[in-house]
Amino acid sequence: MNQIDVRPEMFHLHTVFNIARGTPDYDKEVVLVTITDENGLVGRGEAIPCKRFGETVDFITNQVNSIRTELEMGVTRKQLMDILAPGTARCAIDGALWDLEAKQTGKPAWEIAGHSSAWKPVDTVQTLSLDTVENMVKEAKKHPDSKILKIKLGGGADDMKRLEEIHKIRPDASLVIDANEGWSLDELKEFVSKAKNFGVTMIEQPLPKDKDHELIGFNNKGILICGDESIHVLDDIKSRADRYDMMNVKLDKAGGLTHAFEMMAEAKRLNKKVMVGCMLASSLSIAPALLLAQDCDLADLDGSWWLSDDRPDGITFSGGQAHPGTLWGQP
Ligand SMILES: [Mg+2]
Repeated sequence: MNQIDVRPEMFHLHTVFNIARGTPDYDKEVVLVTITDENGLVGRGEAIPCKRFGETVDFITNQVNSIRTELEMGVTRKQLMDILAPGTARCAIDGALWDLEAKQTGKPAWEIAGHSSAWKPVDTVQTLSLDTVENMVKEAKKHPDSKILKIKLGGGADDMKRLEEIHKIRPDASLVIDANEGWSLDELKEFVSKAKNFGVTMIEQPLPKDKDHELIGFNNKGILICGDESIHVLDDIKSRADRYDMMNVKLDKAGGLTHAFEMMAEAKRLNKKVMVGCMLASSLSIAPALLLAQDCDLADLDGSWWLSDDRPDGITFSGGQAHPGTLWGQP
């Protein structure tokens, strides 16, 4: 019988993370799920409570405990998708099952995923937290190797100034914007008409999820429109293919890597570009996403970069890339 352990853990950020919506993040509380099999082999996965969807440590712990008997008896990743709804708890369990499978089979996760070669470092977006124009420019200067900068905007008059100044010092960089549902269609139109001059290549979730039908037929003027808050699971990829050029697949929303692979396959079948995103999280959350990101168009996986006390043997960042560590998915 497997042994299941669920416990909260706290990580700390070296730099405050600020976006227009919600309060700034200083710390990151996560839930660690550990599955130990009869031979003492251990698989680990991590859940990040999503405040926006009302998730708490207790909620996630209760969700894991709700299927504790099944986990003790041993479920496959496929069976897991039938017995637990998508979300961060399932994501952590799925991650732990992948990790355990690597230990049990002696095959690394990339091989279990059917890849013919080992996973490689991936170019990742570097996020610039919302701040004054001056401070964001200062921050952008710290990442000369990052080819893609993600700019969090505040919705005020300074937004275009932020882009203009960052573009001035990094004309080579591709800028991606995350509007986090903050705009109207008119605001998006106005933004798109100016933004291309500043190296903007993509806008993430401009409109609220319940208004994104207004994007049908939208002239994006060559700037990709990406769905994030609108895209949780496979059905969303299908139902919202008429409004987005790119789909942000996040393991936390998908409920794990297993379902996220299905989402990516469907997005590609529909000729959509795929972004792999993440939350602020430790490397244990980022590692499975980095496996998915081997075949994506845009990786936004700097989540563990923000931590001052990440787990050992985790993802490392250099040359604008996220490099796989050995903390997850290794025999
Ligand atoms: Mg987003």
